Amino acid sequence: MRIAMVSEHASPLAALGGVDAGGQNVHVAALSAALARRGHDIRVYTRRDDPALPERVRVQPRLEVVHVNAGPPCEVPKDELLPFIGDLATGIGRDFETVAPDIVHAHFWMSGLAALEAASAGTGPRVPVVQTFHALGTVKRRHQGLADTSPEERRWLEPAVGRSADRIIATCSDEVFELKAMGIDVAKVSIAPCGVALEFFTPVGTAATGKRRHRILSVGRLVPRKGVDTVIQALALLRDKGFPDTELLIVGGKGNTGSDADPEARRLALLAAELGLGEHVTFQGQVPREDMPGIFRSADAVVCTPWYEPFGIVPLEAMACGIPVVAAAVGGLADTVLDNATGIHVPPRAPEATADALAMLLSSPQLRQEFGAAGRTRAAARYSWDRVAADSEKAYRLTLAARAAGSSAAALKGAAL
Ligand code: UDP
Repeated sequence: MRIAMVSEHASPLAALGGVDAGGQNVHVAALSAALARRGHDIRVYTRRDDPALPERVRVQPRLEVVHVNAGPPCEVPKDELLPFIGDLATGIGRDFETVAPDIVHAHFWMSGLAALEAASAGTGPRVPVVQTFHALGTVKRRHQGLADTSPEERRWLEPAVGRSADRIIATCSDEVFELKAMGIDVAKVSIAPCGVALEFFTPVGTAATGKRRHRILSVGRLVPRKGVDTVIQALALLRDKGFPDTELLIVGGKGNTGSDADPEARRLALLAAELGLGEHVTFQGQVPREDMPGIFRSADAVVCTPWYEPFGIVPLEAMACGIPVVAAAVGGLADTVLDNATGIHVPPRAPEATADALAMLLSSPQLRQEFGAAGRTRAAARYSWDRVAADSEKAYRLTLAARAAGSSAAALKGAAL
């Protein structure tokens, strides 16, 4: 198949850990690479955010990234990109005129808008569009309220994308309920989770060295909804529960200079100082992908306590490295982390429960070992990118079959008239 991926803000070539560069970038990059390995031809369209980027980058045989001019060629927060989506659609549509794809897979709601418009650009029938939302505005608004910086138009455009797309791929079961509540026909929803690079995130290999007896780890974009403040509060409680010699390593945020460059890191550093934990919390800043497995392996436990989480690749990476995960039982984390088997579920925004879960893990090397091994087994059994690519391919084939069935039904009806 010729597959066009549209990922407006999340380039598969971007550095990770910044405010708008995280799981979606990983997902688009890894899914595209796995589909290309399965023999499909993939073009990923993303917005040019740097004038120095070449128009086309060949990443591997059958996989090319195309930088489309839409808006200023510099970093623009994703919530300010809507005015440029028309230009993105025009640029993509122009490329479709040279090689038309069999299917378009859009990532995030604004990519869906661009994809639907570009897919209708030619003279023939619209190219079928498959949509993965990655995050939903309804959920974001529920949790972030006035702090949600999404454009107002997302309220009606996102459900419209859902209604217009030929098929939707949800990344977890929780998302299916949310889609239903948005009025979307769940008969056209498939589930394909995110995956993890199992050959790269492994339990065996070098590990970074910690500074204290125990190390807990938080990894992700530094935005308030990731709930890193809960982890810092839990660390303070852990001190009182008999684990004073524990450090928290925080990976992610802007730049690579610790807390100085990043406003959320500054807020968190202040909280740590107020709790007397200045010496126990390290802000690592953005860490390149190749260093991540060694960092995961250096931890006794990885903690993910977001307010909500559309999927969450970090727990999967930890599990693939054989590290137990303390996870808020929200969104995708409720599917990936098995309570009392590969980690421990806690409610979101619950420092006390998080500290209890961590204390349980820190007090038992055997439990950590068992949960870690079970995590690796689960990641390998269910979350390889090859399996995710096969699931996605199935969704594409269903879409094409539905389209073909629709056309022959229409032809039959025409012939009968
Ligand atoms: N990540 C990274 N370096 C960093 C921070 C994060 O490589 O400094 C990666 C992390 O390993 C994971 C991704 O960014 O692969 C974050 O994905 P996740 O789905 O957990 O969160 P999202 O960004 O989608 O909210």
